[in-house]
Amino acid sequence: MTPLVLKFGGTSVASPERLRQAAAIVAAERARRPVAVVVSAMAGETDRLLGLARDLGGEIGEAETDVALASGEQTSAALTALALKEAGLAARSLLAWQLPIAVEGPPGGARITGVDPGPLRALIEAGVVPVVAGYQGIAEDGRLATLGRGGTDLTAAAVAAAIGGDCDIYTDVDGVYTTDPRIAPEARRVERISHDEMLELAAMGAKVLQSRSVEYAKARNVALRVRSSFLEPGASEGTTVVAAEGVAERRVVSGVAYARDQARLAVMGLPESGEGAAALFAALAEADVHVDMIVQARARAGGVNLEFSVERRDLDRALAAADALDLAGAEISHETDLAKVSVVGVGLRGRADIARTLYAVLGGEGIAVRMVATSEIKISALVEADLLEKAVRALHAAYKLEEA
Ligand code: ADP
Ligand code: ASP
Ligand code: MG
Repeated sequence: MTPLVLKFGGTSVASPERLRQAAAIVAAERARRPVAVVVSAMAGETDRLLGLARDLGGEIGEAETDVALASGEQTSAALTALALKEAGLAARSLLAWQLPIAVEGPPGGARITGVDPGPLRALIEAGVVPVVAGYQGIAEDGRLATLGRGGTDLTAAAVAAAIGGDCDIYTDVDGVYTTDPRIAPEARRVERISHDEMLELAAMGAKVLQSRSVEYAKARNVALRVRSSFLEPGASEGTTVVAAEGVAERRVVSGVAYARDQARLAVMGLPESGEGAAALFAALAEADVHVDMIVQARARAGGVNLEFSVERRDLDRALAAADALDLAGAEISHETDLAKVSVVGVGLRGRADIARTLYAVLGGEGIAVRMVATSEIKISALVEADLLEKAVRALHAAYKLEEA
């Protein structure tokens, strides 16, 4: 029988009551098939630990910060195993080093390179439910490294791939919606969504699934599903992430995603030759700044003007990197309190009217568009942070996403 990996997110393990509910869900599945469990830290715990580390100068990307952060998942793995035992199941917690889960890449954003299925299979065969601490792995230097925020989804996909299992992501909503139901209560649950659409939604900020977990599941053929741990076992089918052919619903747009805490930088009057821009982006990359949207225009007075967006947390590093360059007198300015709203759908491919709709809808609501970026299956706009929720609801309505 195909084993099932059940992943419980922060709100699903946030208290003894929630842990008991999670244990009841595991017990119900365990009656049908072999199971393994993967857990996040209790809700709010990762932020609390990060705050403590930051107070002492430990930023994301600092190895000791990761050691502190990883402790959240250690606690919840142990508590989940206790809850399972209370429910009458044999269970055992496992930390990354005990499998091991091997990772590479920087602390705070490591990638999984391998999960040893041996210990998991041995426990399952012995009738014991393995409870794996999410979000953590062991780097080549033997140290703990975390997988980036939301990374327990990736642990779950990787554990499922390792044992040849399916993967159910239990969270506080009963699936993937046409947009965040907290912002637009009229949002609708989608029964099936393609990997590519889910990937794009996740990459654009829909945090219901971490984008790397979707990538991993797609590459390794793991059946991925999003379900609610707040409903009785089996009360909702949730959302299944499937290959594109498996999506029966055919609509132009599948969802609206958003990302808060964006910033915009403008560099006015760079030399036309392009050397200035090359040096600028090289310096930003060196400073580990992820540049998102880029707009370039010819300045009236000669030379070029460049505008680009970054995440707010990268802004200070971006400004420092730009200031350190000799940009031939170019003028640098910036703006914060921005957010990004994105419309995603495979049906956008090749359509001529996407930008028109975006500008018309947002303009009609009095929302100024600060910057735009498009890809094959999405269009994103940078807007004032205060107007973000209005923008999400307006675009959701414009594409009639509330209609089944
Ligand atoms: P967990 O702690 O279980 O991993 P997350 O907070 O990471 O949960 O993800 C679940 C949240 O994602 C929901 O509570 C919801 O507010 C948010 N969300 C954003 N976009 C969507 C969407 N399109 N569909 C469902 N939930 C969404
Ligand atoms: N606890 C980590 C976070 O908050 C990982 C996760 O929950 O997926 O990002
Ligand atoms: Mg999450």
